[in-house]
Amino acid sequence: QRYVFAFHEGDKDHRDLLGGKGANLAEMTNLGLPVPPGFTISTDACRRFLADGQEPPELHAQISGHLARLEAERGKRLGAAVDPLLVSVRSGAKFSMPGMMETILDIGLGDESVDGLAAASGSERFAWDSYRRLIQMFGSTVLGIDAARFNDALEAAEREHGATGDLDLDADALRGVVADYKAIVRDATGRDFPQDPREQLDMAVRAVFASWNTERARIYRRQERIPHDLGTAVTVMAMVYGNLGPHSGTGVAFTRDPATGAPGVYGDYLSEAQGEDVVAGIRTPVPLQELERLQPAAFTELMRIMALLEGHYRDLCDVEFTIERGKLWMLQTRVGKRTAAAAFRMAVQFLDDGLIDVKEALGRVTGEQLAQLMFPQFDPAFEAKPIATGVPASPGAAVGVAVFDSESAARSDLKSILVRRETSPDDLPGIIAAEGVLTSRGGKTSHAAVVARGMGKTCVVGADALEIDLEHRHFTTADGVIVREGDTISIDGTTGRVYSGMIDVVPSPVVEFFEGRLSDDERQRDPVVQAVSRLMIAADEHRRLGVHANADTPADAKRARRFGADGIGLCRTEHMFLGERRRRVEELILAESEAEQDKVLAELLPMQLGDFVGVLAAMDGLPVTIRLIDPPLHEFLPDLTELSVKVALAEARGEVDEGDARLLKAVRRLHEQNPMLGLRGVRLGLVVPGLVAMQVRAIAEAAAARIRAGGDPRPEIMVPLIGGAEEFELMREEIRRVLDDVANTSGLSIRAAIGTMIELPRAALTAGRIAGHAEFFSFGTNDLTQTTWGFSRDDVEGSFFPAYLEQGIFTVSPFESLDEEGVGRLVSIAVEEGRAARRDLVIGVCGEHGGDPSSVRFFDRVGLDYVSCSPFRVPVARLEAGRAAV
Ligand code: ADP
Ligand code: MG
Ligand code: MG
Repeated sequence: QRYVFAFHEGDKDHRDLLGGKGANLAEMTNLGLPVPPGFTISTDACRRFLADGQEPPELHAQISGHLARLEAERGKRLGAAVDPLLVSVRSGAKFSMPGMMETILDIGLGDESVDGLAAASGSERFAWDSYRRLIQMFGSTVLGIDAARFNDALEAAEREHGATGDLDLDADALRGVVADYKAIVRDATGRDFPQDPREQLDMAVRAVFASWNTERARIYRRQERIPHDLGTAVTVMAMVYGNLGPHSGTGVAFTRDPATGAPGVYGDYLSEAQGEDVVAGIRTPVPLQELERLQPAAFTELMRIMALLEGHYRDLCDVEFTIERGKLWMLQTRVGKRTAAAAFRMAVQFLDDGLIDVKEALGRVTGEQLAQLMFPQFDPAFEAKPIATGVPASPGAAVGVAVFDSESAARSDLKSILVRRETSPDDLPGIIAAEGVLTSRGGKTSHAAVVARGMGKTCVVGADALEIDLEHRHFTTADGVIVREGDTISIDGTTGRVYSGMIDVVPSPVVEFFEGRLSDDERQRDPVVQAVSRLMIAADEHRRLGVHANADTPADAKRARRFGADGIGLCRTEHMFLGERRRRVEELILAESEAEQDKVLAELLPMQLGDFVGVLAAMDGLPVTIRLIDPPLHEFLPDLTELSVKVALAEARGEVDEGDARLLKAVRRLHEQNPMLGLRGVRLGLVVPGLVAMQVRAIAEAAAARIRAGGDPRPEIMVPLIGGAEEFELMREEIRRVLDDVANTSGLSIRAAIGTMIELPRAALTAGRIAGHAEFFSFGTNDLTQTTWGFSRDDVEGSFFPAYLEQGIFTVSPFESLDEEGVGRLVSIAVEEGRAARRDLVIGVCGEHGGDPSSVRFFDRVGLDYVSCSPFRVPVARLEAGRAAV
């Protein structure tokens, strides 16, 4: 089997095999761009290595063959004593995992070749700087030596030579550093730093394979939902040197601003530096625009290449480049990560430029991103003075207590802001746990910025006026304000401002737009709102799925309608029994005669009627699916324990209240061990028929009232929690009877479809028979998930779910994204058998999943008519439904 491929043998569509980095280097090579030559070892080899604990036997010879060709092409030998070839050994998986795995530069240097490199380049300083970099990187990543030992030695040397940074160390000083580093290696591993270049190369390749499974890589994959079994490719390429004097340097650039989506190139450049220096935020780089002045020829070439790449990939690209003595080399490109705002703006820009069509534009934004744009923002009218300002790297409004390390962020019960000088990949758990990230160093291309953007976390970087004192766990601003760990701060990822205390938030412009509160002018001025508006129109044009809302009140119904809902898919009625009406439910339960019960129901009727009139009016002309009362009655009664205590205490005092005693008896009678599997849903309706009759009467009379008022009410009546056709049939008779009665007395034709929820496995499995009686189905996927898996949603989160996620039993909670394999199967069966029995059966879903992007796609695929979700998720579902259809 072949495991190794030269750059010219691959292309961008082989990311599975070559990793993103290897595939795109191949693509750039084939485009004729200046890429140092090299080859890529496939992810197959990595998977073999991880499975067998050693590389496949063929690999050694295959690497030799490709290395020989590389040496011939460069006219140099790896690690030779005269003019040596050096290579980098780079990780690169199918999905970009920035900084999470290892890369080792300057492989091939040793005690002899370092002189050869000095002679060939004419710079001793450069050669020794490269050597010390190699031992440092190799030592920490391949040999597993604590990186701090090397940093300490370097800082000691800087102090000794009165240097303020690594740049001030001359060749002799660096020679000393190399000697110190070698001593560290000997001390830590019991052997000398390996001098054989091929041994270095093989060890580095193995280390990169192994870095697929580092703790931080695993955490990152879990967060980003990247499978754990892909493995990484390894790219070996000839080194080019950004640390070769003042006309050399290295940089990172984007073809557009990945934070805002504004057109125009964007990036950071660092003179006399190699590789990681830029992203690690060790020295603060200069903006790309400076490069035009520093290196005009290389700048022009870079601009040409970036335009070419963007046209070629038809998307935002980011690149890593190095300039060696004025000559530009391209070291990496990929379709860049971006914020939600940038994603929307850029999709529309590329659409307008004619590079993509509207379907592809829809494919470039996600419902999750839209949801992010709907988060509240800091109130611009709030007149607080910022305590510092940094570079806005990832937008959003984050408020939390300052914490100074990753563990504290992960431990904090309060929302936190992770404050660091710069972040490293090891801070990942903290970035995930925190609301936002604030650093005092680094630019928009720094590690913190890239990772935060990818995750939609608020991030401000390079607030360099902040003095962070880790030891005393506080930071000091330029004005001398001290903020301690645990103090609340607010950071604005859109402006880069940092405030002490909590800043008020206001709705985002995108929400204001959906609410219809923006003037035409305001809309025109906000490019994000414009982009959202255009893509929403496109989504609505393409989507097949209807989008309804879960709404119980006229206010929610109105909002849902403004947000584009095609109706109400779930109007719950239980909240209509809360508040001061709770008293009446008690009376109903305590009633000792039918007459007494009827009296209470008669009092409840006008209240329910008023509720329904409001909702039907708000949704005039659109369907409103009203669910009959669902929860167990005891939920409307006092808590058993509390009431028992109260009565017991009263008894002890000899002053028992008659009513309390009766109530307690009733509460005891209704008490259930598993109320969620007890007397609720249709069961309640069958056991306490008067209640349902009252509800149906209220619905029918509300409809009659709306008709008399000239409206167009479209109520639908939905029976919850049925297990089979018999229950539904009995319930439907009762509903019919009341509807007919109201129709007869009012003389109006009142039409209300009668259907059912499908939320028990038995209902799904007998859907064919149920559809014989029901006009519509609505999947209650919350209960269906609980009853299919057999776990209670209210109890799992704090107990065993974390362990399940950790062990990969599922990558996401089945209450968040529909479990397609199990619950989804029941859905498919019910759809199929339901439609076979009744061709025009209307089918929707009203569980939490109705607003979850990946679940929406599933519901589209199995042919549902609509999804229903909370009003705020309606735009998200519309967008996802549009995306699912193209
Ligand atoms: P990551 O995936 O963490 O970005 P990379 O493999 O891209 O790691 O390498 C880290 C840095 O080293 C990058 O800035 C890259 O440009 C630089 N680098 C990699 N290979 C070479 C090379 N052959 N010559 C010079 N610099 C290199
Ligand atoms: Mg890189
Ligand atoms: Mg339910």
